[in-house]
Amino acid sequence: MADNSEDRSVLATVTAAYGRRMELELNDGRRVAARTRRRRLRVVCGDRVTAVSQSGDDDWIIDAIEPRCSELARTDSRGRREILVANLTALIVVAAPRPKPDWYMIDRMVGTAFLLGLRPILVFNKSDLVASDDAVLTEYAALPIERFTTNALSGDGLASLARRLRTEVAALLGQSGVGKSSLLNALVPSASEATGAMNESTDEGRHTTVAARQIQLPKGGRIIDAPGVRDFAPHIESMARVAVAFPEILAASAACRFTDCTHRSEPACAVRAGVDAGTIAERRYASYRRLFVITDQLINKRQPH
Ligand code: GDP
Ligand code: ZN
Repeated sequence: MADNSEDRSVLATVTAAYGRRMELELNDGRRVAARTRRRRLRVVCGDRVTAVSQSGDDDWIIDAIEPRCSELARTDSRGRREILVANLTALIVVAAPRPKPDWYMIDRMVGTAFLLGLRPILVFNKSDLVASDDAVLTEYAALPIERFTTNALSGDGLASLARRLRTEVAALLGQSGVGKSSLLNALVPSASEATGAMNESTDEGRHTTVAARQIQLPKGGRIIDAPGVRDFAPHIESMARVAVAFPEILAASAACRFTDCTHRSEPACAVRAGVDAGTIAERRYASYRRLFVITDQLINKRQPH
């Protein structure tokens, strides 16, 4: 090819993704519309890419994806791995007294962070409402999970959360109604307009749902807001990885008699001994068993025999 696109290609960050349409942030901070050159190039929000400008300044073509430092993936309906967001450095799990917390879902989301090698940040929002289940909060206090308490409506606790996020690229997870949108709007007053370049780029004159978007925090750091990420089950490659989602179970498992112990019915299982002794919370162990069963089903879907 006669064109020397190599020379003109620049590094950029994907700040929103909708199908093959993207919004890129260039190094000078400008946000421009872009698309992929090849359909097979699966670009997701958070990707670092090389791109070249086409005729117009607002028409960029993505050529290649830089290596990712993390991939947040879910399991699709066929049991396959679907990457949702790339290059996260933190996961924020939002919980609240109302709606009634689904603690198994929270365990799964917190566990997703551990599976990615990230430290979860648990945000208890709606601090103006009384926490409904203090016993569970005590369980979390014993785990390597950072905790923040916020009130998205009054702004209580938001300054320290914003300070904590200054150097992170974090996704917001949590069940519907806990206040994720409220938190985002309180942290970033312009969050609702943050997808301008994307909206302009869509030919269809109707509203389209952005799959994921990255929002700059005023004091530094970024939040990736993705509807499909807000409430999901992590993709787990193998049964042995399930325990990675539960650090206290993983730690105890070093003392199990069998190295491939699944901590369900094997003899001399240090995890079950820990549950009996009260050093591992029964509720967390039940979450482990539940995630184990679900993962087993998904893996069998993936490799039919
Ligand atoms: P999302 O589904 O997680 O995005 O939740 P929303 O942000 O839509 O919030 C759900 C409801 O909770 C809305 O009516 C909010 O006004 C309310 N809400 C959000 N944060 C707080 C809070 O800190 N305290 C109280 N009392 N209500 C809140
Ligand atoms: Zn065991």
